[in-house]
Amino acid sequence: MPQRTFSLRKQLRKRVINTLIRDFRLHKPEKTRGEEVRDIVLSWIKGIGLPIISTFIVLSIRLRFTSFLADATFILFFPSIIVVSWIAGLYSGIIATIFGAIAALYFVSPPLTALPLTSQFEFLLITYLIEGAIMSYFIANQRNAKSKAEDVQQSFQLLMENTIDYGIIFLDKRGYITNSNYGAYKLTGYHKSDLVGRFFSILFTKEGKAKKLYEKEYITALRKGRSEDDNYLQKKNGTDFFASGFTTSLWTQNNQLRGFVKLFRDVTQTKRLENEKEDFISIAAHELRNPVSSINLYLQMLQKYYKNNPNKEAQNYVQKASEQLQRLLDLITTLLDVSQIQQGTITLNKEAVDMNTLINQLIDNIQSSEKQHKIIKKGTIKTKIIIDKRKIEEVMINLINNAIKYSPKAKQVVVTLKNKQKEISISVTDFGIGMSNDVATKVFERFYRGKQKHIGNIPGLGLGLYISSQIVHAHGGHMSVTSSPEKGSTFAFTIPKT
Ligand code: ADP
Repeated sequence: MPQRTFSLRKQLRKRVINTLIRDFRLHKPEKTRGEEVRDIVLSWIKGIGLPIISTFIVLSIRLRFTSFLADATFILFFPSIIVVSWIAGLYSGIIATIFGAIAALYFVSPPLTALPLTSQFEFLLITYLIEGAIMSYFIANQRNAKSKAEDVQQSFQLLMENTIDYGIIFLDKRGYITNSNYGAYKLTGYHKSDLVGRFFSILFTKEGKAKKLYEKEYITALRKGRSEDDNYLQKKNGTDFFASGFTTSLWTQNNQLRGFVKLFRDVTQTKRLENEKEDFISIAAHELRNPVSSINLYLQMLQKYYKNNPNKEAQNYVQKASEQLQRLLDLITTLLDVSQIQQGTITLNKEAVDMNTLINQLIDNIQSSEKQHKIIKKGTIKTKIIIDKRKIEEVMINLINNAIKYSPKAKQVVVTLKNKQKEISISVTDFGIGMSNDVATKVFERFYRGKQKHIGNIPGLGLGLYISSQIVHAHGGHMSVTSSPEKGSTFAFTIPKT
């Protein structure tokens, strides 16, 4: 029998779904003209019919039990007003009040079946009408509020029960779990009853707990309103999964913190594929680097050889080959940098470096092969700074090369050095294509390439600024850009002195 009920319900649902799809495809309005008229008629019947019926019932009772209810003239109609206001709303409630008044005057108060308003009833009648109207108003309001609250409650309930792929967890102000959905159970194995009342660190892995990731999420959500969470969480059975989602703080309109909602989904599979891809790139780049470096060495030897045994044509080929090889080496370095950053294994080999000398050398180097732009240096930094020399060189080369690349018509690039109290600041300014604010907010993202005019002709991978900003970040500094389209850009970064 339950089997049959189930399949019946399924069939019914299928029929509803088919009708909905058909209506959706036809862009059918919610109601046809006929249905609208029917609804209006029904609401009239409900609005007036209900007061008539209820007044009639009350009156019948009053007339049937005249001896008991001799003193009750108006008061008997109050239940009718209550019921009608609750079912059909304010206007029906007021109509019921008026019908009650007419019935009381016409059939109950002497002289019967006549409507003279004797002074004896005048006061009672006015009080009854005012009370009836007030009662209708409050009851109808109460009813509306209740049905709205029920609607919200039901939508919320359905959301919690039907969101299966996403875990939703509500926290109170102190981070204790107050509610969780079915999805949270599917993803973590914890039932709502396991979670409610527990501190939300219960969801984190041992390492996550040691790193106090939950505290980071809590504080970021509190300070910034939202924390983007990408980390491993632990299931009830002890296994891990990679969760991606966010935690949002919930504030009332009077700025009272109500708590937090944490939403997450399982992206372990995607993460695994991403890791495999990163690993592959990293291994391939590593493996490529050695043979390519060897070829580079042999080419340098060949260059030397042809210097001593001049052969113009061969010299030219060797020169071209070593330029292309340099590009290949740069690409390999970029790939290695990106995979290091992605895997969080970026390591800095720091040493005390004279920034002035470093930048002078770099500028000379780039200038030796750059004919159009003059690279001008402004300011000096006298003190030595503790940095990873090779990596900061990479940042500088990247910024200067970009400045040249993205200012094809300009003649200058300016490098400015500033020695501040706690940090040094280096900026590279060009007078080229510039960028809008929209582009400027994204240039430090991985694989981002701007959509400026003519950018299609300029080669690039969209990785240079990502790597540079990460290197600066790893040094405890900050990279920024100010720019205006068609005028030029300034990329600046800081490095703390200690
Ligand atoms: P790539 O130059 O290989 O595209 P980058 O990460 O170095 O990658 O730069 C990202 C994007 O930032 C570029 O595609 C370009 O749109 C913009 N950009 C970078 N430097 C400049 C600059 N000096 N002037 C204008 N746009 C720039």
